[in-house]
Amino acid sequence: MYVKYKTRKVESSRVGKIDFDHLGFGEIFSDHMFRMDYEHGGWLEPEILPFGKIEVLPSLSTLHYGQSVFEGLKAFRARKGGINVFRPDKHAERMWHSSDRLCIPRVDKDIFLTAVDELIRLDQTWVPSKVGTALYIRPFTFATEDYIGVRVSEKYSFFIITGPVGAYYKEGFNPVSLMTSGDFVRAVRGGLGEAKTAANYAASLLPAYEAKKRGFAQVLWLDALEEKYIDEVGTMNMCFVKDNVLITPPLEGTILAGITRDSVLHLARHWGIKVEERRISIDEVLSSIKDGSMTEAFGTGTAAVISPVGKIYHRGETVTLNDNRTGPLAQRLFDEITGIQSGERADPFGWVHRVGI
Ligand SMILES: *Cc1c(COP(=O)(O)O)cnc(C)c1O
Repeated sequence: MYVKYKTRKVESSRVGKIDFDHLGFGEIFSDHMFRMDYEHGGWLEPEILPFGKIEVLPSLSTLHYGQSVFEGLKAFRARKGGINVFRPDKHAERMWHSSDRLCIPRVDKDIFLTAVDELIRLDQTWVPSKVGTALYIRPFTFATEDYIGVRVSEKYSFFIITGPVGAYYKEGFNPVSLMTSGDFVRAVRGGLGEAKTAANYAASLLPAYEAKKRGFAQVLWLDALEEKYIDEVGTMNMCFVKDNVLITPPLEGTILAGITRDSVLHLARHWGIKVEERRISIDEVLSSIKDGSMTEAFGTGTAAVISPVGKIYHRGETVTLNDNRTGPLAQRLFDEITGIQSGERADPFGWVHRVGI
């Protein structure tokens, strides 16, 4: 194996101890991680090393002001052998976009992509093979200056950690119920909503906790100004099917430009389905569910791929979609995207990156 980066391997792998039949999400990490530090205006020599503790001081600036960005992508064991990564170039580009907003230096795309490849090759026995499972890949950059004054940090670390994951929703591919955001807001135009950054999640925790207590899987965020238009769900973009048209909120600065969202829009157009990227109000959603013109709603995101929505609660009222069953377009998109990811279906847009192992 050709190794591009300085590599320190584990003495013995932990992979034999992992119960691959009962994988959760985000709890187990593979043997190795990638690290590259930034100081004096440039990135230093990258390194692959055993996954493990890092030493930080309590004055680490990220801990105080949240100057950090992250990505999340997946690698799949291909049915016919080899390992497929889904659209890694798009994730590298989006990390630039997030980094720019947070004054974080960009990581070179080639370094990002080759680091992902090398980690996968090195930890290939960690890539699970059951349907619905994947190796989750988490690149992230954070400020590492020991300074608690508020300003842009001069030091950063870029890491990539990976780990095997099972199906995201414990209920499986069954509809979830959502609750609108009520008095809380997540992001406003000009803020951080279109960056993949820790702060957005910090803002979402209390509302998500309250929603869970009331029996809802996630919060459906409405726009912060008028509390009227659909933004997105905690970790997913939203799509609706109304009169056979696929409708999704536009990228206007408050929501993340999801790569699954982009894949869904490409496929729908490819299949001849009409697509509208436009604002859609909660009132339009509720009334068109009631009059029968809206037949499906689903979330899109790397973790869940497609997550059908069965119920939406808004201001004391709950509406049910498609008898709380998965709709045909959600099912078709899920089958197609997971089929492309596993290499079972044709990949007309060149989304799959094959890692030679
Ligand atoms: C990551 C994320 C998504 C989904 O994006 P994908 O690229 O499809 O995984 C949607 N919303 C938010 C807030 C996210 O952080």
